[in-house]
Amino acid sequence: MTVLATDIRPRPLSDHVTTVLRSVRHRSPGEEVFHQAVEEVLSTLGPVLERHPEYVEARILERLCEPERQLMFRVPWVDDTGQIHVNRGYRVEFNSALGPFKGGLRFHPTVDLGTIRFLGFEQIFKNALTGQGIGAGKGGSDFDPPGRSEAEIMRFCQSFVTELYRHLGEHTDIPAGDIRVGVRELGYMFGQYKRIVNRFEAGVLTGKGIGWAGSHARTEATGYGAVFFLREMLATRGKNLDGLRAVVSGSGNVAIYAIEKAHELGTTVIACSDSGGYVVDENGIDVALLKDVKEVRRARLFEYAAARPSATYVTEGSVFDVACDVVLPCATQNELGHEHAATLIRHGVLAVSEGANMPCTARAVALFREAGVLFGPGKAANAGGVATSALEMQQNAARTSWSRAETASRLEEIMREIHAHTRRNAATYAEDPDDYVAGAAIGGFVRVADAMLAQGVV
Ligand code: NDP
Repeated sequence: MTVLATDIRPRPLSDHVTTVLRSVRHRSPGEEVFHQAVEEVLSTLGPVLERHPEYVEARILERLCEPERQLMFRVPWVDDTGQIHVNRGYRVEFNSALGPFKGGLRFHPTVDLGTIRFLGFEQIFKNALTGQGIGAGKGGSDFDPPGRSEAEIMRFCQSFVTELYRHLGEHTDIPAGDIRVGVRELGYMFGQYKRIVNRFEAGVLTGKGIGWAGSHARTEATGYGAVFFLREMLATRGKNLDGLRAVVSGSGNVAIYAIEKAHELGTTVIACSDSGGYVVDENGIDVALLKDVKEVRRARLFEYAAARPSATYVTEGSVFDVACDVVLPCATQNELGHEHAATLIRHGVLAVSEGANMPCTARAVALFREAGVLFGPGKAANAGGVATSALEMQQNAARTSWSRAETASRLEEIMREIHAHTRRNAATYAEDPDDYVAGAAIGGFVRVADAMLAQGVV
């Protein structure tokens, strides 16, 4: 089926939603990704607001779009040569109606307030969808770890937490990892927090190491969860993952474990990428080699191709040019545009499951919808990561540790329930169970809105 960008029909917006969107744009100029995320959610809410005028009266939309608190702070640190650097730190505590603020930290030179606000806003609906009693927050810094020594990364993390610690707490705000923040960075932050507060407060961070109050399956959870969500979507059309060919973008935490789970379930992942280019490997990506290159050696993806005769490293075009049956975009926001979507549709793609946060542009999403491609938005498809963080918090609170099998099976069950809840809401409000974009936004929104109503004007 050929779908042109000109075929896209935008969702109709009510006057109330149009007014709120205008105000959001006016009050946060220049924050395009935040506006995009807000518009994606609000544009689906018309039928809910019609049935529930009390949400409009209580100004739930206006309150949802305004973080409860947002922090920006100086992060000074000294490099190995004695030179002083100053980065900027962020934490946006978006909504605590369902539980303590919860969401990751991203260290990347592109991080700015708008990026963190977009990620924090997404987290509201994602965390609500998990049903795990967690509020929403996000943070990070424009610090860039690659090329920095271990000692420099440790000093940066310590300086970052020396300011942020006063806002954290197992009942208040609980960060985790995100782009370029993994167990190493979280370890340095946890150590500094513990030193400052003089308490081993295990539940203050998630994504910790297994040996120091971390949870089994947390590292794998986001990627595995995105594949479980994909499997559930395909099942609604009587299909399974066996024998399919997949493309995964990125080659970091989410991508690696999406590839691992896809292979386990019978799908061959033939391509993945990093910001330098992409690898095509018709024999299927060798996950052990990818882990060695990316997790152990922290090297670039071309080193994977250099070590694998069946692989080709490509720097022209995009990983989404590779023909496949299913796609898991697992790198970063807006990496898959409408021209990529058109190519994938031409190649007959069946389903897209977003491992990353908002990796598909609004026009790409609309093209997939018009073409009947199953599309799992990140707030549902990648919620396995934060859901397993909530399982880590449960284990920390009970001072216990579940087996890998126990945690992994809870993750699988949670993803199944998120999928079912998303479809139920899509069917009820959008009258189309395949409208996962509406189902995820509404499924999360109703839970948060009801809690906000019950808790009064705060
Ligand atoms: P990692 O840092 O482990 O990996 C990120 C990958 O994406 C790397 O391969 C990186 O390539 C690539 N990438 C990052 N920025 C860009 C860019 N601007 N252009 C092209 N490629 C880029 O991060 P994660 O795997 O943890 O996160 C990936 C996505 O998943 C993010 O959107 C994150 O918000 C989302 N997510 C993560 C969760 C988690 O549990 N970690 C939970 C839910 C969502 P390079 O190394 O060259 O930069």
